[in-house]
Amino acid sequence: MNSSLTDESIGDDLSTTEAIVTYKVVDNGTERGKRKLVSSDGHTFTMKRQNKGSTEWRCSIRNKTTLCPVIIKERVGTYNANTEHSHAAKPGILTAVKIQAELKVKAPMTLFEPAQNIVDNILAEHVDNREPEASIQAVWRKIQENGLQTAYSQKDAVYKFFRKVLALPFLPAEHILPTFNKLEEKATTDQIKVVMKYIMDNWLTSNIWTIPTWSVFGRTIRTNNDVEGWHNRINQKARKGNLQFYLLISLLYKEAAQLPTQMKMVSEGKLRRHQKKQSRTTQSKLFQLWNLYTSQEISTNQLLKRCGGIYGPN
Ligand SMILES: [Zn+2]
Repeated sequence: MNSSLTDESIGDDLSTTEAIVTYKVVDNGTERGKRKLVSSDGHTFTMKRQNKGSTEWRCSIRNKTTLCPVIIKERVGTYNANTEHSHAAKPGILTAVKIQAELKVKAPMTLFEPAQNIVDNILAEHVDNREPEASIQAVWRKIQENGLQTAYSQKDAVYKFFRKVLALPFLPAEHILPTFNKLEEKATTDQIKVVMKYIMDNWLTSNIWTIPTWSVFGRTIRTNNDVEGWHNRINQKARKGNLQFYLLISLLYKEAAQLPTQMKMVSEGKLRRHQKKQSRTTQSKLFQLWNLYTSQEISTNQLLKRCGGIYGPN
């Protein structure tokens, strides 16, 4: 069984593959409570015109200094851009828009609920599900169920194979499916196929647990302790002298909008966060790897191998 798997490169290098951009419409996404279109590459759009069979969305970046020309044409679930954006993207924007939209809907319904409960609930929904350990543990259990743990613990080809599979969340969302397919071609035994099918059904083709929700590429990975620290910090700010609700919204928005900057700062070692030394080291290693991947200095295969090395179960 073990000899059927080799640790050779996955094949075509995906780091140079053009990213597939996906779009999501967020209800209540705009300041005025209208729908907002958000792209996976960090841009937002407001509706310009609704025609018979299509909708036109215009890039939200339209101010005195930047008048972005991008128009997205939506037609039966497909989205096409007319040109390139004339400004930088904001990678954390989808989370920020979702949090804002949810606060707008929930705030009037929860007038009598303490502000920090609302904050906790919304943040928990948007932050906790990005924790990679939960999904990795689910696969790890599946490996054990299928009697593969001996092979795995002997650190042979099966071990190296699943290390890579378990490191899939560390890839950019658009590289995950093609990489999974490459790995699956190497799954030659029934036991391994069962685990790969489980991952396919539960991770790759799930409607609820979509790939962009579990890709942690470029994200600060929060452990439970870390999330607690973040909640405490916001709660402290929120409690300080009857913070009015609109101020809370702007505080939350700032937190969400800051995420991409925080990531950059963490990678540059400039930000002191409530992280244990261990997890801070892990985080900076990850950012180093992601930088190397983005600048195409390491291949998809190398990224998976190295992420598996610092994060996978031993
Ligand atoms: Zn734009």
